[in-house]
Amino acid sequence: MTEAYATLEACQREIHRLSRLVEISLALNSTLELRKLLSLIMDLAAEITDSESASVLLYDRKLGQLRFVALTPDTPGSADLPGIPVPLDGSLAGAILLENRPIALDDVTTDPRHFQMADRQSGFATRALMGVPMRYQDQVIGVLESVNKRHGTWTPDDERNLMVLAAQSAVAIQNARLVQQLQRAYNELDQLDKLKNDFIAIASHELRTPLSVILGYATFLKEDTEGAVGEHAAAVLNSALRMRNLIEDLTNLRYLKMGQAELLREHIPLAAIFQAAARDVENMAAAKGHILRVYPPDMSVIVNADRIKLEMAITNLLNNAIKFTPGGGEIVLTCERKPKSIWIMIKDTGIGIPQEQLTRIFEEFRQVEDHMTRRHGGMGLGLSIARAIVEAHNGRIWAESPGPQRGSTFTISLPLE
Ligand code: ADP
Repeated sequence: MTEAYATLEACQREIHRLSRLVEISLALNSTLELRKLLSLIMDLAAEITDSESASVLLYDRKLGQLRFVALTPDTPGSADLPGIPVPLDGSLAGAILLENRPIALDDVTTDPRHFQMADRQSGFATRALMGVPMRYQDQVIGVLESVNKRHGTWTPDDERNLMVLAAQSAVAIQNARLVQQLQRAYNELDQLDKLKNDFIAIASHELRTPLSVILGYATFLKEDTEGAVGEHAAAVLNSALRMRNLIEDLTNLRYLKMGQAELLREHIPLAAIFQAAARDVENMAAAKGHILRVYPPDMSVIVNADRIKLEMAITNLLNNAIKFTPGGGEIVLTCERKPKSIWIMIKDTGIGIPQEQLTRIFEEFRQVEDHMTRRHGGMGLGLSIARAIVEAHNGRIWAESPGPQRGSTFTISLPLE
């Protein structure tokens, strides 16, 4: 009877131990914040081994050192020890790490490897110590120690429990470190992005002011002067206008990150947007001797769109059509009604686009021509801005071309309500 009772008691103890370990595993998965995680690990280590205190030492691969990273908070000196290096050679923690096995001592004072400096710094007297390696995959990333067992001596159960805790802690610590690294990288990227945006905003603003003076005087000179000087003034004016377009492209970079929230939507006839976009480019088309044909839909076709931005997307495509079509070509702006959407098409008779570039050209700064030998101006942003605008409207944009010198067609598909 007593034997059966003892077995029952052992079973109960084992069930309690296992359920505590399950709870621990859940607790360790509950946070990815390194500091919180370490303090949780120490509390658990002290609790499951019935000890006064616990500590975590992590291995710094670059320095070849172990470092205290955390101690049970109410231990004397717990605020001073974190950061203190522990040599690998001649210390108990070092031996645990190098030999990759647990060490349990009921009286550390008999072991010369006991690192007394930690006790001296913290004013804490270590009597008994059990330390286990923290393994992650095939590496030992640190050491978990329980210090001063409250009652009796270390048991095999203490060692088993601490080993399980150390294994789970190692995974949790590595995850938390990865999240920290990722967070740091994100923050750096964010800062760089902000720096870039600030730079662009300031530079384009600063360039615009002197440019408007140049534009004003060049226009004035062109109108008031004849002969060679008038021609020179016209050339200055043309270049200044090109420069203004470049600066506008730069300012419009912010549209690349645009989400739906930034759209100022209204219900408008698509025909109105067609007319406005055509007006924007008619002078440029005429200057190159192109025929610009515009076939707007009837006024009953209403889109729920941001008027200015959609017009900008269509204008960008028209500008490209004009730019990449040799003089005397034909540019067509038309549309086609589909069951649930409307397709807006910009067709040209220009230089065409190689098959393998048809999707790439929508990436930022991507241009088919090599930038060193380019004949056409531009920064490679027009299409990426158009795509960002169209996608914010839940639409799609794509390019088609039968091949070099056989023209291109750009299509915007917008959902209809
Ligand atoms: P940019 O016009 O400033 O170079 P875009 O983003 O508007 O930048 O266009 C990217 C590239 O796509 C252009 O440099 C050009 O190589 C190609 N492309 C765009 N539209 C056309 C077109 N209608 N015909 C031929 N190539 C085009």
